[in-house]
Order: sequence, then C-alpha cells, then structure tokens
Amino acid sequence: MVRYHRYDAVIVGAGGAGLSAALHASGAGRVAVLSKLYPTRSHTGTAQGGIGAALGNMEEDHWEWHMYDTVKGSDYLADQDAVEILCREAIDAVYELERMGLPFDRTPDGRIAQRRFGGHTREYGKAPVMRSCYAADRTGHMILQTLYQQCIKREVQFFNEYLVLDVLIHDGQACGVVAWNIQQGGLEVFHSKAVLFATGGCGRIYKVTSNAVSLTGDGMAVVFRRGIPLEDMEFYQFHPTGIYKMGILLSEAARGEGGILRNGLGERFMERYAPTIKDLAPRDIVSRAIYLEIREGRGVHGRDYVHLDLTHLGREVLEKKLPDITEFVRTYLGLDPARDLIPIQPTAHYAMGGIPTDVHGRVVVDAQNTPLPGLYAAGEVACVSVHGANRLGTNSLVDIVVFGRRAGKHMARFVQETDWPPLPPNPTELAEHLIAHFLRGGGTESVSRIRDELQTVMMEDASVFRTEASLRHAWDVLRGLRERYCRSGIQDKGQVFNLDLVEALELGFLLDCAEALVASALFRTESRGAHYREDYPQRDDVNWLRHTLAFRQDDGTIRLDTKPVVITRFMPQERKY
Ligand SMILES: Cc1cc2nc3c(=O)[nH]c(=O)nc-3n(C[C@H](O)[C@H](O)[C@H](O)COP(=O)(O)OP(=O)(O)OC[C@H]3O[C@@H](n4cnc5c(N)ncnc54)[C@H](O)[C@@H]3O)c2cc1C
Repeated sequence: MVRYHRYDAVIVGAGGAGLSAALHASGAGRVAVLSKLYPTRSHTGTAQGGIGAALGNMEEDHWEWHMYDTVKGSDYLADQDAVEILCREAIDAVYELERMGLPFDRTPDGRIAQRRFGGHTREYGKAPVMRSCYAADRTGHMILQTLYQQCIKREVQFFNEYLVLDVLIHDGQACGVVAWNIQQGGLEVFHSKAVLFATGGCGRIYKVTSNAVSLTGDGMAVVFRRGIPLEDMEFYQFHPTGIYKMGILLSEAARGEGGILRNGLGERFMERYAPTIKDLAPRDIVSRAIYLEIREGRGVHGRDYVHLDLTHLGREVLEKKLPDITEFVRTYLGLDPARDLIPIQPTAHYAMGGIPTDVHGRVVVDAQNTPLPGLYAAGEVACVSVHGANRLGTNSLVDIVVFGRRAGKHMARFVQETDWPPLPPNPTELAEHLIAHFLRGGGTESVSRIRDELQTVMMEDASVFRTEASLRHAWDVLRGLRERYCRSGIQDKGQVFNLDLVEALELGFLLDCAEALVASALFRTESRGAHYREDYPQRDDVNWLRHTLAFRQDDGTIRLDTKPVVITRFMPQERKY
C-alpha cells in the first residue's frame, strides 16, 4: 500500500539550502521537507571556515570587490548576473542570520568578526581582505541549528529518513516526488504544486573526499534520469588541505589565520605559483601546485603529501579560532598543530556543476534557459552558476542562504498562483522498479566492491589532472561497472531500516553523476579552473567560454550541448594572483 501526502511545496534536503527555502516558502502554504538524514546531520553542519560577505567590519570592503573575486576565481565561467546577486545579497543574508540568533564571533566593539580566505581580495586583487564571517570553525553547524529552529517555529513539516527516488513531472509541470520510508519501509507519494531539490553534492564519487558518506548526488541523478540536463559537471573542486589519506578537511581558515604550506624541502612553495596572495590563492591553483610539487619529487620524504604549517600561530589562536581542526589533527593523526607539521593532500570537496537554474532557483532545461514550471533547485546540487569553473571558499554558504531564500520566495508566489497539477497515471512505477530489483531480485555482484572501484577510477583518472586517455579509460570502466550494477544484489531483503538497500540505491546515483562528469570532461577540450586537461593546457575563450549541458538519453548514452556565459561587468582576463 502506497501512502499519499499533499503539500503545497515539497523540499528535498534539510541542509542550509533546503531549510532557507523552507523558511521563506512557509508563509504561503503547507511546506514539507524530506530528508534522508535527521536535518541537523546534513553536511552543511560540518562547514568550518565561514560565510563570505562584504560587511567591511574589519577593513574597507565592497560587494563589487567580492563580485570581482568570485568571477576571477571562477576562471570567468560564472554567470555574472547571478554573481552580482550573490555578493549584494550576501550582506543582508548574514545580518538576517544574525537576527535569527546565529552566534557569530565578534570584534571587540561587538560587530561580526571577519577573517581572510582564499581568493578574497581588496581593490580588485591587490591584497587579501577580511571577508569571511565565522563562528569559530563551526560556522555551518551554527547556520544549520539556527535555520532548523526557525523552520520548527514556522511549522514546516519534517519527514526525516525518507530517501527520495523520483520526481514526478506531468504535462511539463513538476507535481511531486516519490520517496522510500527508511524507518518503516514502503514507498510514499508526495503530491505538490512545487518541488525543490536541495540534496547537496556528490563527493562520494571519489576515494579521498571531505564529503560525508551521504553525499551521493541523489538529486542530480533523479532529475538527470528524467531528461533534465546537468550543467558544468566536469568542474569538481579538490580542496588543497585534506588530512593525508583520510580526506578529512582542514579548513582554509587555517591559512586565512596565517597557516603556510611547505614542501619536502621546507619551502613555502606557493610563493612561486601565486606571488601576490601565496597560500591564499584559489583552491584549483593551490591543489594543482601541490600535485606539481609532489610530481617533481618535492613531496615530504618523496611521498605524495606536503605539510600544512600552523606552528607559528600560537596555541591561543589555534584553540580559540580553529578549535575543531586542532582537535581533528590530535584525534586522527596524534599530532599537536602548535608543534608539529601536518601531512595533507588535496581532497575531493565540492561540485561546481549540477542542476541548472535561473536566479530564482527555477530549474531550466535547455540552452535557452526555459524553466520547467514547479521545479526548483538550490545549494550544492544546483548550478546557477555563481562558482563557474572554481568556487572560492565561503561562497557556498553564501550560495545556500542567498539562493535558498530566493527559491523559497519564488515558490511561495508560485504555489499561491497555481492550481493543483494532476499526478501522472502510475506515479510509483519507476521507484517500484528500483526497489524490486534489490528486494525481489537476486543479483550477486557486490555493491561495495562496485562503489570502491568507481571511487578508485575517478580518483586516478578524473581528478585534478585529466587527459583524453585517462578519461576514456574512466568511461570504459564506468560502463563496465554499470553493467555489473544491473547484476548487483543485497542480502537483506527486509523493509525496516534496510541500509543495504539505501546504499545500493545511492550507488546508482553515484554512477550517474560519475558518468555525467567524465562525459563532460571529455567534451571540454581546454583547461579552466578545476578542469585541467594536460592535453589541452590552455584556457580557450574562443571555443569554450560556455557552460556544458549533459543530457541522459533513453538508451543510457549522454548527449552534450553548451550554453553561453552571462558577462556583465568583468571581461575575461589572464588569471594572475
Ligand atoms: C567538511 C566541509 C567543510 C565545508 N566548509 C565550508 C565553509 O567553511 N564555507 C563554505 O562556504 N562552504 C563550506 N563547505 C561547503 C558547504 O558546506 C556545502 O556546499 C553546503 O553546506 C551544501 O549545502 P546544501 O544545503 O546544498 O546540502 P547539504 O547540507 O549537503 O544537505 C543535503 C540534504 O539533502 C538530503 N538528501 C540528500 N539526498 C537525499 C535523498 N535522496 N532523499 C532525501 N533527502 C536527501 C540530506 O539528508 C541533507 O539534508 C564545506 C563542505 C564540507 C564537506
């Protein structure tokens, strides 16, 4: 028996983007948030370093400078109309969080304190600026708790531990989702006038990642399977400072507070790659520099890592401003950051690409930006695009609150003006098929083995450096894994808390995201931002100052298209730091 629910707006995902949207949609009708995790366990809660906004509390700053930095950081691929909104509205969004009670760190005179972060500068690139607003290195935790409390106050309904498997689209309009109830088993249909996806990223396609195990690209894959394109999937960010081999993140705030990267010779090598802002260069540049140092034999002890040096910061700064990462280093490495150098390597961190949207969070389905009525996306799952080919630190937290809020507001208007759309004839058909394969089918291929091979090939062939040969190899491996996935099975056939089933379904999502990423990376024959093709090392603005759109075809192949980049203020220039 399938259960049916009816809500004006259904939001999938309870991270910062989903909760911001829910809060701002809640005035207009009944709002439900579905989340596979308990809301405050969403990945937003792990964000450390801060949220960027040109408040100018510590020194002069302007949203135009923030915009310039974001566009330059994006290697000129971001849509500048969206970036302008991001940087202008960031200021009000931070004050709104403050008014809701978010306990930011303070200046001595009581204003929100700010610190430096990679790629954020004053006067169009002259020197680093203090722009990141923070609550120690637990900023995301505070944002998530604050927004969750506000949603409860506004009577948003939460359906926790629901795994959304399909989006319902009928007569060209979104009309709900189908979810698996993880606690009790069974499929449930949520009929609605509007649906928003805020399911976060897909970092688990890689072996070494900062992302939580739940970040399996579900929202991207669900809409991709329904013929909606994914934009700019080839741009996947590696954060320079993950704990060696584990990938656990050590926030860029560590370098914002003065931390330094050193190679095996003890040299501050970033001086050579970014003479002006050195260790605070954008992440694509720093990650590539680390790999180059290692390749040229200057890793520590000739191995594949370098050091993060925080020893000169002093115990007080470490304990007060970076307490969580200090603790991580003690717990996971048994080292003391006040005394010891920390072994780090780049770690898969953030998807710049995702579900294409306009600046109101509406999902757009083609190169002409035609919206699909009733369908929205915001946060890491979406591509609006404010990050282009490379995101600056602190700009994702801005993105989730600014565009989550805009999408929520638009949904509120939309559901008031729209009649109830009918459901399609057999709404659970696709989801039933997915579930039946594992609960009634009897394949023998192991889900965890396929996932492991997927993560390994993505790490080796489609990470910081790529070539046509490595990407073709990855593609062939992925096709083989998909074929094996069709023959995969699980032992547990139960309904209640069947986590084998959840993992098996998530693996299907990972495969979709990985295929979209590799196909898009093969397509783009240039190097830009986080996408570095060794066989095409130059940026090519003549042919590639365009976004990529990947469409899944009925036969499982991927069709690629492009759409233009919106340029309003800053013409592409050589990117020097
Ligand atoms: C360790 C770490 C530190 C970071 N630090 C910073 C920082 O300092 N500053 C910054 O700007 N950015 C930072 N980032 C990036 C930023 O935190 C994330 O990009 C952002 O929080 C994503 O928010 P979101 O709301 O889009 O998704 P998430 O917070 O990831 O939430 C996703 C939600 O979707 C739900 N969900 C997913 N799939 C399904 C499904 N199938 N069915 C139902 N629900 C589903 C989950 O339950 C969850 O509630 C950091 C990221 C990491 C990993």
